[in-house]
Amino acid sequence: MTLQLRVYVPEHPLIKHWLAVARDVNTPSVLFKTAMAELGRWLAYEAARNWLPTIDTTIQTPLTQCPGTFVDPQAPIGIVPIVRAGLVLLDEVQKVMPLASVYHLGLVRNESSLEPSCYLNKLPEHFSEETRIVILEPMLATGGSIMMAMKEITSRGVKPELIRIISIVAAPPALRQLSENYPGLEIYTAIIDEGLNSKSYIVPGLGDAGDRAFGT
Ligand code: URA
Repeated sequence: MTLQLRVYVPEHPLIKHWLAVARDVNTPSVLFKTAMAELGRWLAYEAARNWLPTIDTTIQTPLTQCPGTFVDPQAPIGIVPIVRAGLVLLDEVQKVMPLASVYHLGLVRNESSLEPSCYLNKLPEHFSEETRIVILEPMLATGGSIMMAMKEITSRGVKPELIRIISIVAAPPALRQLSENYPGLEIYTAIIDEGLNSKSYIVPGLGDAGDRAFGT
């Protein structure tokens, strides 16, 4: 079987609504944060489908026994928020995956060279091979940061096909790089936008996600 990058854009009125709120230049910072968090929750819900490992068992109701399915508490799951903007999604994604460990990765891009550099890395030296990872990177633009994050995570033993990326807006250059390097990966995003402007901002996009969320 040939593995292929899969990009899911769930068709849902709430996703459309919160994306429009986030895109609107007149949305104040506090509401922008709410919009991003809501999008993170719905996209995490979709990403967890057919991915969160479960165990089937028999449970006793007050009346009788019946089959029951639980999320497997032993299955290792990690959430990797790309600091800063990824933090905006974290709380709501943790509500969907409360058993997951959180490994912060701080990446910043140089505004002239656009090259990312890592200033915070809380990843362990090695992950067990069954570890599932969800990366929170709201803006997939040039692909520089997400490619660096993927390298850091896969070099620690995580299989690309067990990784899911939650983004809010994705652009073709980042998707192209991920597809060429990580077939089998799955991405959940609210929209795929047209492209980038001369400063590598996504167009139409929503501006600088970190600045808008943190009011800087
Ligand atoms: N990062 C952002 O916050 N916005 C963009 O449009 C691109 C990268």
